[in-house]
Amino acid sequence: MSNTSHLEKLNGPQRKAVTFGEPLPEKGFKSGPLLIVAGAGTGKTDTLAHRVAHLVIHGVDPARILMLTFTRRAATEMRRRAHDITKKALNETLGGVSQTILQRLSWAGTFHSIGNRLLRHYSRHLKLDPQFSVMDRSDAADLMDGLRQELGLAAKEQRFPRKETCLQIYSYRVNTQRPLKETLEQQYPWCAQWEADLTRLYRAYVEQKQRYNVLDYDDLLLYWHVMMSDPRLAQHVGSNFDHVLVDEYQDTNKLQAEILHGLKPDGSGLTVVGDDAQAIYSFRAAAVENILGFPDRFTPRAEVVTLAQNYRSTQEVLDVSNAVMAEAPRQYRKHLLSIRGKGARARIVTVDELQTQAEYVCTEILRRREANVPLKRQAVLFRTSSHSDILEVELAKRKIPFVKFGGLKFLEAGHIKDLMSLLRWADNPRNTLAAFRTLQLMPGMGPVNARKAIEHLESNGHAFAALKTFAPPQPASGAWDKLTELMLALADPQRQWLGQLHLARDWYKPHFERIYEHFHTRIGDLDQLELLSGQYPSRERFLTELTLDPPNATSDLAGQPVLDEDYLILTTIHSAKGMEWDTVYLLNVVDGSFPSEFSTGKPELIEEERRLLYVALTRAQNDLALVVPLKFHLTNQSRQGDAHVYGGRSRFMTEKVLKHLEATSFHGSSSAGGDNLRADSESSTLDVSARLKEMW
Ligand code: ATP
Ligand code: MG
Repeated sequence: MSNTSHLEKLNGPQRKAVTFGEPLPEKGFKSGPLLIVAGAGTGKTDTLAHRVAHLVIHGVDPARILMLTFTRRAATEMRRRAHDITKKALNETLGGVSQTILQRLSWAGTFHSIGNRLLRHYSRHLKLDPQFSVMDRSDAADLMDGLRQELGLAAKEQRFPRKETCLQIYSYRVNTQRPLKETLEQQYPWCAQWEADLTRLYRAYVEQKQRYNVLDYDDLLLYWHVMMSDPRLAQHVGSNFDHVLVDEYQDTNKLQAEILHGLKPDGSGLTVVGDDAQAIYSFRAAAVENILGFPDRFTPRAEVVTLAQNYRSTQEVLDVSNAVMAEAPRQYRKHLLSIRGKGARARIVTVDELQTQAEYVCTEILRRREANVPLKRQAVLFRTSSHSDILEVELAKRKIPFVKFGGLKFLEAGHIKDLMSLLRWADNPRNTLAAFRTLQLMPGMGPVNARKAIEHLESNGHAFAALKTFAPPQPASGAWDKLTELMLALADPQRQWLGQLHLARDWYKPHFERIYEHFHTRIGDLDQLELLSGQYPSRERFLTELTLDPPNATSDLAGQPVLDEDYLILTTIHSAKGMEWDTVYLLNVVDGSFPSEFSTGKPELIEEERRLLYVALTRAQNDLALVVPLKFHLTNQSRQGDAHVYGGRSRFMTEKVLKHLEATSFHGSSSAGGDNLRADSESSTLDVSARLKEMW
C-alpha cells in the first residue's frame, strides 16, 4: 500500500519515527527497537498514534498491536486517534479497514489492565485460579491491617509502621525488585528495626491473598513478570503481538521494563516514547534509567529519534518551563521551541490567602470564557487533591460546573464499595474480603456471624448453595433468603452480565436505605455505577477495570448528558499527564507545595518536584497563571488553632524564572475577616462534597 497522506502533517523526525522499519512483501510491517525521547508537547503521543495507523495501513492486524498507556483514558484516546488517522488516510466512508480498528485494537490499556487479561488467559500455566479478584489499595491496606493485629505487631511497645506504610514498603520492594533490607535502609530508615517482623507480615499477606484468590495491583505486574521469566511462556505471550508501543515510558518501573524485554527480547516491533524531564513517579518505584538505558539494551542498539518542535504552547509558556528546568542540576538539556510563536506573557499572581486565590481563579475563568475560551479548555492544576477544596466551594457558589480528576475516588464511597463487594464475591466465591463486607450489610450480621457464615461456606467448597444451610441471626433471616437467591443467580455461568447490577441493587436497596442516613444524595452514584456497567463486556472486566483505574467523582462517566455541556477541569498534576488546555491556572505555587513539604529531605526528591512543576507548566497552550497565596495552610498541621504559615513563594521561582513572568497581585472581596470564612469552609468540607454532587 502506498498511501502516505497520513504523513503529511508530520515534521521530519516525527515522520522518521512513524515510518521506522519496513513493510513486509505481502502485508505487515517489521521494525527493530525504537525510542522517541523528547520534551513536552513535541507530539510524542501524536506520533505514536500515527505509527499505529501506519502499521495498520500496511496490513498489521490491530488485534496484534499491544499499546501500553498510563491511564485507561489515554488508551481510549489513542485508539480513537489511530482510527481517525487511518480512516482519513484510506479515505474510507463506511466499512473497510479503519472501521474495524476500534474494535480490533483491543489490546490497549495500562500495564496493570493488560496484565490482568493475560494472567487470566494464561492462568492454567501459572497455577492461578482464573476467577481471581483484583483488590484496590484500601482493601489491600485493610488486609494488611488485619494481619498486623493477628500477628501481634500492632501491640508492639514501640510503634510498628501503620498499615499504609506497610503496604508502601511492600509495594516499593516488589516493584524495584530490591531486597527488603535495602528498601528499608534507603527508603524507610525509620522502619529498619522491623525487618524481621515485616518479613513475617508480608509472608502472611501473600498467603492470605492466595487463600482468598485475590491479587493486589502489584501482583498483576509481579505474576506477569514471573510469567515472562520462563522463556517458553514468554515467547508464547510475546508471539501474540507483532508490535508493542509504550507511551510515558519514563514512568515505568523495573518490573515493567523487564516484562517488555521478555515480550520482545530482541526489541523487534518495540517502540517506547517518553520524556525524562517529566519523570514524576519515583515514589512508586519508577526508574528513569529505563528510558535512559533503553537504546543499549539491544544489539544492535535501538534507533533513537528526538523531536524538537513544540506544537502545544506559545513561546512565553515555554520560556517559563525552560527556565525552571535550566536550573536542574543534573539533566539532559532540552530547550523547548514553539512552532506557534509569541503569545501573552505568563503571569505570577500574588494573593493574600486561599480564599482570595479561589476568587481570583473564578474571576479569571469567567473573564476567559467571555473571551470565548470555553470552560472545557481551561484547567486548574494543583499538587494535592485537597488543594482545591476552597476553590470548589467558590465554584459551586458561582455555579461554575467542574469535573475533578485525581480527587475523591468514586469507588471509595461506602455505598459503591458495598455493591462492588457483592459483585466481587459473586465473581470469586473465595473472596473473603468481599464476602465479609457483603454479609454485614444485613441487619443483625456483625463480624462474628459473618465469619461463621464464611467458615460454613469454606467447609462446603465455597458453593453458594451452602448459604441455604446456614442459620443466620434472626433479624437477618428475611434478607438472607433473598441473598441466597441472588448469589445463586449471579453465580450462574449462563447469566449474561447485562442486568446483573440491577439485580444486585434490588437486593441492596433496603439495606442501603437503612445504613445511610441521607441515602437519597447517594442514589445518583448508584445510577452512575449501573450506567457504567453497561460499558463493559463482562462482570470481571467491569470489576477489574474500575478497580485498576477508578473513575474520579463524576468525570469518566461518558454518556451522562451533563458531560455534553461545558465544565471546568480540576486536576492534580499527576492526573494531568499528557493533557493540554488553552488556559492553565496553577494553585499554591509556594514552598510546602512546590516542593511538597514531604519532599524537602532529599535532593533527588526535590528534583522530582521540579519535574512535577515542569509537567504542570507545559500543559498550557496560550495562557498560564501561577498563583501564590501568601498565607498557606500546611496539611500536616492540626486543624485547630492557626495552622497557617507564611510559606512564601516556591523556591523554584528564582530570579531567572521570574524574568519570564508578569508579576501582579489580586485583592479579593473578603480580605478582611478572611480567617473566619476559611475556617467555616474547612469545617464543612464533607457537606460541601455532598452538595457539589447534587449540583448535577
Ligand atoms: P507530553 O509530553 O505532554 O505528553 P507530547 O509530546 O505527547 O506531550 P502531544 O500531546 O502528542 O505531545 O502533542 C501536543 C500537541 O501538538 C497536540 O495538540 C498535537 O495534536 C499537536 N501536534 C503534534 N505534532 C504536530 C504536527 N506535526 N502538526 C501539528 N500539530 C501537531
Ligand atoms: Mg504525550
